[in-house]
Amino acid sequence: MAKIIDGKKIAAELELKLKKEVENFIAFSDTKPSLAILSTGLEPSSDIYIKNITKKAQKNGFFVNIINIGKNHTQQDILNLLQSLNSNSDIHGIMIQMPLGANVDIAKISNKISPLKDIDGINPVNIGCLAQNIPALYPCTAQSIIEILKHEKIPLEGKNAVVIGRSSIVGKPVALMLLNENSTVTVCHSRTPLSELKAACLNADILIAAAGSPGLIKGDYIKKNAVVIDAGINLSNNGIIQGDVSFEEAFPKTSAITPVPGGTGPVTVMMLLRNLLTSAQNIYFSKNNEGSER
Ligand code: NDP
Repeated sequence: MAKIIDGKKIAAELELKLKKEVENFIAFSDTKPSLAILSTGLEPSSDIYIKNITKKAQKNGFFVNIINIGKNHTQQDILNLLQSLNSNSDIHGIMIQMPLGANVDIAKISNKISPLKDIDGINPVNIGCLAQNIPALYPCTAQSIIEILKHEKIPLEGKNAVVIGRSSIVGKPVALMLLNENSTVTVCHSRTPLSELKAACLNADILIAAAGSPGLIKGDYIKKNAVVIDAGINLSNNGIIQGDVSFEEAFPKTSAITPVPGGTGPVTVMMLLRNLLTSAQNIYFSKNNEGSER
């Protein structure tokens, strides 16, 4: 019988652990881990995401500063703001609400965020660390996928893992993480012919869907007893959230599958907050070590 993986339950366990770690860090360092969110107001669903993060963060002892940069921001406005947040020692993590305006070059913005404060893992330094399997701040959704697989004790080494999607925040980083876990990894994307995508899926012990294409993965794409993690979050016109996998069709074929909603989403928020604590700890300890070396 296939198992429906409960992302909310996993997130609740992670939250308990994180809350204690935050309390210990604050007691030890007298430093409250603090997050700056640059909000654009361009995308209502991102506003909901920011509200959720803020609520969870505050509940667990973090400080959140939402900076509204408005809809008419220029690239230079954002670069200037990042410059001041990078050098502000009271801020430990920086998050930028996507999408940004049409005239903003995301690569320039990603480059500008201090790698030490880049809790979304978008700076090329952090992505390079991931490619080299060096600990750093990694993208949160990709981390949440691996966290779920490990929580469920799914063996990764030597398994065929197939990732649908190659974005910098989900597909590529999760493919690298699976490689670092010694899986054999195949990545499909929009230029992969559908017949090859289906063939790859049928060979997948572990199937990760991160395409943003509702119902792309049908029941007859699933290998018997595969583990399926659906990272897709697709909002239909009638307000229903759907994943990239046709859940009803896929479920009976799998050994375990994440639902949408209630799968990777809640765990992603915990990964973001864990990154924020890590960045606060790294900044605090590097400052204190500097002091003791003088
Ligand atoms: P992007 O749009 O940046 O990337 C989508 C990727 O999927 C691209 O690589 C694209 O290929 C590929 N793709 C699109 N359509 C198809 C298709 N029909 N067949 C094969 N590949 C396809 O999206 P993100 O990576 O940012 O997000 C992916 C999904 O994950 C979305 O639904 C998003 O809402 C969700 N998401 C979930 C989060 C969570 O916490 N669970 C957090 C962030 C995102 P190509 O490169 O060729 O264009």
